[in-house]
Formats: sequence, structure tokens, C-alpha cells
Amino acid sequence: QKAEWAQLVDRKTVSQDGHHVELAANIGSPQDLAEVIAHGGEGVGLFRTEFLYMGREDFPTEEEQFQAYKQVLEKMEGKPVVIRTLDIGGDKHLPYLNLPEEMNPFLGFRAIRLCLDQQELFRTQLRALLRASVYGNLKIMFPMIATLEEFRQAKALLEEEKEALQRSGVDLSKPFEVGIMIEIPAAAMMADVFADEVDFFSIGTNDLIQYTLAADRMNERVSYLYQPYHPAVLRLIRQVIEAGHAKGKWVGMCGEMAGDPIAIPILLGMGLDEFSMSASSILPARQQIGGISREMAAKEIPQILGMSTSQQVEDFVTNRFAHMN
Ligand code: PEP
Ligand code: MG
Repeated sequence: QKAEWAQLVDRKTVSQDGHHVELAANIGSPQDLAEVIAHGGEGVGLFRTEFLYMGREDFPTEEEQFQAYKQVLEKMEGKPVVIRTLDIGGDKHLPYLNLPEEMNPFLGFRAIRLCLDQQELFRTQLRALLRASVYGNLKIMFPMIATLEEFRQAKALLEEEKEALQRSGVDLSKPFEVGIMIEIPAAAMMADVFADEVDFFSIGTNDLIQYTLAADRMNERVSYLYQPYHPAVLRLIRQVIEAGHAKGKWVGMCGEMAGDPIAIPILLGMGLDEFSMSASSILPARQQIGGISREMAAKEIPQILGMSTSQQVEDFVTNRFAHMN
């Protein structure tokens, strides 16, 4: 099987009936790129920038960040690179931020909430991203968006920094997209409204599942409720894809589910455009997708969404698509 995968490194990802989807990789630092390229990643679907801030005594400077972003963009040679702004909080701590303990960190002061409050921190990152934007195919993504106001505020700060940099003579002539993660059920439900204002969605199922089923993704005692194939989760995902497509926006997924062989036929059938996963999952996923007809998978979606339990979905997909794995 390893030999078959190796042949797929330089190929595009195409379903059996000829539809191209993009298989991208999740990374935490520029060092991860060697593996992405070795496994034939068609882009970076999620650069988790918080790792630039972790394991150190103080914030990374604008220049340090600029260098990291530029390096990733250049190494990917024009392939799409989605860089997510700081998603700290929840399970990821920054000791030097000195934030008070919270009762429910996953429902608390994290990600975009923190960035909109600590604006200097956020603006520094935005400037680094803007300056890097001319070195490749950058897409900027905001995490943990719950409301339209949050997106508008974040975008306004980005515009402010862009204008300030341009006034000081920095070249920002290359256009870039600005999108959001859909990882909060409220945002998934309102995807049609967001779709008017964003350039793309990337569905963060790691969080979307925990918030939909109210089951802490770190708590083993409730892990039985952490159900990626639960019809509630699948209906939300379908709704987001349809809402994006209705307004001509592409929709990706960067949660673990995007590389899951049981989820892949469902996501392909729903029309997901981009699947972002750990580098080691890319070639197996490319091979699997090559064996699935997207049109046929699409025909199964209404039945799957009408199912009652996660187990039912899992059994159905396992049987229906078994020969395609
Ligand atoms: C997600 O929530 O699915 C996601 C990709 O973000 P993270 O795992 O970094 O929270
Ligand atoms: Mg998340």
C-alpha cells in the first residue's frame, strides 16, 4: 500500500468521476512543511500560529512572525496557505499573558475574543501577515467566530493595519482572501449570513463537535458523546457547505474529521472543496477519494442526514463504501 501511495505524491486529488478536491495539511510551524511536501499536500489548510507564541517567555515580535509566515508562503510556491490568527485559550495556555483561571476555558476568553480585547497583540500579528502576503497565496482566517460583529471587527482591524502599512510605503498589492473558521454552532446556523461577507469557510470539527454535543473534547468521561458522525453534526456541516456554495464561496474543513476514512465519503458527497489534515493522512485520503464517485456519494446524503444515530451512520457508510477504502 505504501508503494501505491508513493505514486500519488505528485498527483491532484480527483474523485472517480473526475471532480477535483484539494487535500491540504495542518501545520504548527514552518518546520512541518518538509513532511507536507513529501506527502503531496496541495496547500496548507491550517497554520496554527499559536505554536509561535508557545514554549517561550514573551510574545514573538512582528519581525519573527513575518519571517515565519513568509517562509511558509515561499516554500509552498504559490499553493494556497491558510494562516489562522492566534487561537490561544481553551486547552492552549500562554503563561506570560497572565490571564485569570476560568471555570469553563472552552467557553471562555479565547481566540478571537482575546484578540479583539488585546488589540496590540492582534494588530502585531495582522501586520506580520499583511507584510508576508506578497510572498505567496495567503488566506487569513479568524478562529472561534460566534457572531457577525466579531468578524466585522477583526476585518476592520485588518483594514486599518493595511491602510497604515500602505501609507508607510509597504507593498501590499497582492490580493488575499479573508475567511473564518466555523466551529461554533451559532456560526454554522448563520453561515448564510456570514457567506455574504467572508471569502471562505473552514469547518473546525474538533470544536464544532464538542460544542454541538456539549462534550468537552479533553474529558474522557464524556468522550462517548464526542461523535463526529452524529446526524446533528452532519446536518450543520451540510448547511455550512450549502450556504457557502450558494454565495460562490469555497468551503474547507480543518478538523480531524477531514482525514477520517469514514467521514470522507460523506464530506465528498456534500461537496466539500478542501480537506485539511495531518500530512500523513493525505496520501491515503487521495487514494480513497480516487475510488469514490462524488455523484454517487451525493445521492446518499439525504438518507444519511435522515438517520437517527451516529452508530447508524457509521454502519451505513462502512458497508456502502467498504470496497472503496
Ligand atoms: C478545530 O477546532 O477543528 C480546529 C481545527 O482547531 P483546533 O483543533 O486548533 O481548535
Ligand atoms: Mg478549534
